[in-house]
Amino acid sequence: MQAPSDSYDYVVVGGGTAGSVIAARLSEDGAARVLLLEAGVDRSPPGAALPPAWPTLVHTEATWGDSTVRQEATGTTALLARARLLGGGSAINAMSFLRGHRSCYDAWESDGARGWGFDDLLPYFKRSETTVGRDPALRGTDGPLTVAPAQPPHPVIAALLCASTQTGYRRASDISGGTEEGFGCTDLNIVDGRRQSAADAYLTPSRHRANLTVLTEALVHRLDVRDGRCTGVEYSTPGGTARVGCCGEVVLTAGTIGSAQLLMLSGIGPPRHLREMGIAVAADLPGVGANLQDHPICNVVYSAARPVPAGSNNHGEAAGLVRSQPGLDGPDLQMIFVDSLGHIPGVDAPEPGRVTPSESP
Ligand SMILES: Cc1cc2nc3c(=O)[nH]c(=O)nc-3n(C[C@H](O)[C@H](O)[C@H](O)COP(=O)(O)OP(=O)(O)OC[C@H]3O[C@@H](n4cnc5c(N)ncnc54)[C@H](O)[C@@H]3O)c2cc1C
Repeated sequence: MQAPSDSYDYVVVGGGTAGSVIAARLSEDGAARVLLLEAGVDRSPPGAALPPAWPTLVHTEATWGDSTVRQEATGTTALLARARLLGGGSAINAMSFLRGHRSCYDAWESDGARGWGFDDLLPYFKRSETTVGRDPALRGTDGPLTVAPAQPPHPVIAALLCASTQTGYRRASDISGGTEEGFGCTDLNIVDGRRQSAADAYLTPSRHRANLTVLTEALVHRLDVRDGRCTGVEYSTPGGTARVGCCGEVVLTAGTIGSAQLLMLSGIGPPRHLREMGIAVAADLPGVGANLQDHPICNVVYSAARPVPAGSNNHGEAAGLVRSQPGLDGPDLQMIFVDSLGHIPGVDAPEPGRVTPSESP
């Protein structure tokens, strides 16, 4: 299907986590014509709504099938899971809902990103969520995403939380809120035993709006930049290629990698590299495509001394935020407790009683 109009007030590129939120919020204004373009399909892989199944989703067609280049440290490549479906990462991810610690946002601000400190962002965090029984000064009570800790926690998680207290760490009452350190049960995007993606929370209730068009299987190739202004995008669907104009704003929400890739394909980036690739330079922005920071998982694997019941949530119901050394402004390590080994791709079972640090899956 092609976009029914040839010009929109807003064109949102990428219908993932951020794109679902932005398209839904922008189309609240009934006078604004909003087009959301998503490269992936409008359906989740079988079982995607069932929380314990999430590790299997990274091996389905719901991703771009990427892997890294060979890593110097290991000599191997690693899976680079990147979602490709409506809802994006939120439709395949592990459903842990943590804001990140306030010190991280405050560091952004002190590095020059004015307006991005924790206190600036707090109203938006709150607006996104519904929580129950939390401090309403810190947590939202009527947002689209309903989040809560697993109840009751998996027995392995309960034991690990107990052990963390015994080793002297603080037990956090709301580790997802962004102001505490220590160990605690995280909130999960799970409602009535099923995943709640950003598409479920934001797009589904908005799809009936006449001013919102959602086009899936629409791969954007280029942003059309004329006289220093983005005036539309070029994309293809199974039906062919098309251009759509935009008289307002084109919003890039194609993910960390996809957004940078599209900017560079459109001539926005480091000029030398663009010329090497035969791309005409539209804007000299050397930072585009640089400084990717990822968080490979480092597994420390324990065999259980006795049988462990199957996990019924996301296999990672608790987290620890700790400082690797005193004197830091905030926690720099995030630990996630996983209740089940069998579901982690690429991780071998250790010998009973042994601890095995393993590579990133
Ligand atoms: C396996 C896995 C587990 C994770 N677990 C967690 C977790 O438990 N908790 C957590 O907070 N985060 C988790 N994350 C990370 C989280 O899901 C991402 O940070 C988040 O989804 C990023 O949102 P985004 O909107 O920037 O990008 P995405 O959600 O990736 O959305 C980008 C969208 O743009 C589309 N797109 C890209 N290029 C184009 C193009 N050229 N044309 C059209 N469309 C395009 C993609 O198909 C995709 O749907 C996990 C991620 C993965 C992959």
